[in-house]
Amino acid sequence: MDTRNTPYDVVIIGGGAAGLFLAANLPTSKALLLEHKEAAGKKILITGGGMCNLTNTQVEEDFLQHYGSRAQRNFLLPSFQAFPPSAIMQWFESKGVSLVTREDGKVFPASLDAHEIREVLVRESKASIMYNSKISSLSNDGEYFHVQTDKGSFICRNLVLATGGMSYPITGSDGSGYGLAKTLGHTIVPPKPALAAIMVDAYQWMRLAGNAIRDAYAEFHHPGEKKRFLQATGDILFTHDGLSGPLILTASRELKAGDSITFSLLPVKNKRAVQENLLALLSSQPKKHVSTILKEFGLVASLAQQVIKELDFEATITPANLNKQQRLTLMKAVTERHFIIKGIKGFNAAMVTSGGVNIKEVDRGSMESKVMDHLYFCGEILDVDGQSGGYNLQAAFSTAYCVANHIQLPMR
Ligand SMILES: Cc1cc2nc3c(=O)[nH]c(=O)nc-3n(C[C@H](O)[C@H](O)[C@H](O)COP(=O)(O)OP(=O)(O)OC[C@H]3O[C@@H](n4cnc5c(N)ncnc54)[C@H](O)[C@@H]3O)c2cc1C
Repeated sequence: MDTRNTPYDVVIIGGGAAGLFLAANLPTSKALLLEHKEAAGKKILITGGGMCNLTNTQVEEDFLQHYGSRAQRNFLLPSFQAFPPSAIMQWFESKGVSLVTREDGKVFPASLDAHEIREVLVRESKASIMYNSKISSLSNDGEYFHVQTDKGSFICRNLVLATGGMSYPITGSDGSGYGLAKTLGHTIVPPKPALAAIMVDAYQWMRLAGNAIRDAYAEFHHPGEKKRFLQATGDILFTHDGLSGPLILTASRELKAGDSITFSLLPVKNKRAVQENLLALLSSQPKKHVSTILKEFGLVASLAQQVIKELDFEATITPANLNKQQRLTLMKAVTERHFIIKGIKGFNAAMVTSGGVNIKEVDRGSMESKVMDHLYFCGEILDVDGQSGGYNLQAAFSTAYCVANHIQLPMR
């Protein structure tokens, strides 16, 4: 039996980036947001290393290239056209949040504190937010949705599922939203972790965790195949058990255990030119410490030391003490690192989920279900996922804004 008989115009399930942004832009305050955790926007707090990279100023035509598939790009196009990165920036600035844009186009709050973004979204919500509310069932009687929770039952004209994916389930995105979507007749593209770090065999660089190679170039091979199946440029970050950073995160959707990665410790694509340069430097400075030459050559100091240690050279070794074979070995150790991938991190550590509510069943102009009237979706619950760099939050905000603009309110 319904304990609250007055129908809401809108009930939103899920108070993450998408649900909160929708709540802040609703055309009605007869709205309720149900969040099953004790707080909203928990994932927002860990975005961008706690700084919240909320969008990216890449020009629009390039912007869409940062999403998974052509179908996803087509699907997102109307939302992005109606609410592009410039609009999200204006929106936050109009609410008093100063923003900074990095050289690579990544946009952050000037405070570099994700709390500021969450607080603005919660403050601006036009919907009442009910925390700790667990949904037990959803149904539709043809006119209204009935939402049963452990806090009571609610009826509403429009229902929005904004429950996110299933990565970092500790933040509340535990995949339970997929079950709710299925109850209402939707199909789910099987969820997979995306934007995940990789673990590699024979990894000895634990002590380098936190160091990164900027603008690295990497090639990936399937086992036993000479032809690379993927090449990529971007930052590689060393972790305590493997590799991460934008290059790896973006590549991860195409990788599996057994594949290999080869990369240079320097930001370079033309490996041969670099190898020749390094050999020339070693020959021209026979009395300088090799570690100093490597640092001058562009290697991070800790990496230069690590390479020398791995090769069992004295820390103070000079090129004069290296024979030809040793110089070649050194050159290879700098420009051709090779690791077998042991595994891809799972949902506990992946940044986003690929898969989710099948976008063929959702109208891209309004985010309304094609299966059931007045049912909407926004954010990562949908089968859309972007690269790292602010693209996922932008998708959450744009699709949420699309719902806010299209939701149909009852005539009063
Ligand atoms: C470590 C990390 C760093 C990231 N950094 C960035 C970044 O810098 N830039 C970027 O663009 N993207 C980043 N992302 C991705 C981005 O955070 C997500 O794509 C985005 O938060 C998705 O928003 P959402 O609202 O759809 O889902 P979520 O933010 O996951 O929110 C879903 C909400 O729904 C609630 N919920 C779930 N199920 C239920 C239920 N059954 N009942 C009630 N409530 C429910 C959850 O508790 C949660 O509050 C990062 C992700 C991670 C994990």
